[in-house]
Amino acid sequence: MSALEQATPGPVPDEGEVVLYEKRGPIAVVTLNRPDYRNAQNSVMTYALDAAFTRAVEDAEVKVIVLAGAGKHFSAGHDLGTPGRDHHISYENKAVTWWDHVGRPGGDQRFARESEVYLGMCRRWRELPKPTIAMVQGACIAGALMLAWSCDMIVASEDAFFSDPVVRMGIPGVEYFAHPWMIGPRRAKEILFTGEQFSAAQAYDWGMVNRVVAREELEIETFALAGKISQMPQFGLALAKRAVNQCEDLMGMRSGMDSVFGLHHFAHAHNAEVDADSLGGMNIKAMKAAAATAESRSADTGADTHTGADTDTAAGTKTNGAK
Ligand code: ZN
Repeated sequence: MSALEQATPGPVPDEGEVVLYEKRGPIAVVTLNRPDYRNAQNSVMTYALDAAFTRAVEDAEVKVIVLAGAGKHFSAGHDLGTPGRDHHISYENKAVTWWDHVGRPGGDQRFARESEVYLGMCRRWRELPKPTIAMVQGACIAGALMLAWSCDMIVASEDAFFSDPVVRMGIPGVEYFAHPWMIGPRRAKEILFTGEQFSAAQAYDWGMVNRVVAREELEIETFALAGKISQMPQFGLALAKRAVNQCEDLMGMRSGMDSVFGLHHFAHAHNAEVDADSLGGMNIKAMKAAAATAESRSADTGADTHTGADTDTAAGTKTNGAK
């Protein structure tokens, strides 16, 4: 374990409600609410999300769940550097596929934490018995893809952009490794190998999102879709969802994800062994610099980098959205 990982940070600031819950008739709206940090996901947010989803599932009146992000961006991914980063704090485990990570050394700690808050939670949410729709604007980077992909449908605004840049850390993709099933193997390789952003239009062409709409229409269109779904019988929806998920798993998604989770942790361990830390020394600044260098190199060669109109990327914000 590196010195960096050994350092135990102190308490984190109380940011209030980091996830909002609201009901609009038969639709529950669950909103990521750390807009100052591009809705970077710390653990307190993960558990608040889980509580909100549980509440929506247990409320018989709720037929559909919409997952939204407050502010300009859906989410910049996992929290790697805000004052609220809380990877050292114990929360009551919910996925419980492993034990609590706090106090565990090395790979045991990383595997425990990521089994719970990343892979375990996303799988748990994918299996919610009610239809879920991710409503995505702005950045949807790395760990944010995991959230969007866990939902049954995605409605994106034209300004939405996506990426999984963690290969820059020497890591073969985020923990919920759905890439080949979400966009196809070749495009999965392209976005991983280049780390580049792809646009809402590309995501639509690749079958990853259901609708692309103007930014000002995003909420209207998402709730129109949710409203339509809410007319269907609840039990039928639950069975239809389970049916498609089972088929997706028969197409190898679940077992693929399990095997890649091993590679992911092999990469973390390798980084911790030979580098500054389990992220290959790629902190926020380093990721930002690497992305900028790659962009300028592509510009030099005249290549189209498909970086989208908005250069206010997750890599350039206070919170890098990787890991
Ligand atoms: Zn990881």
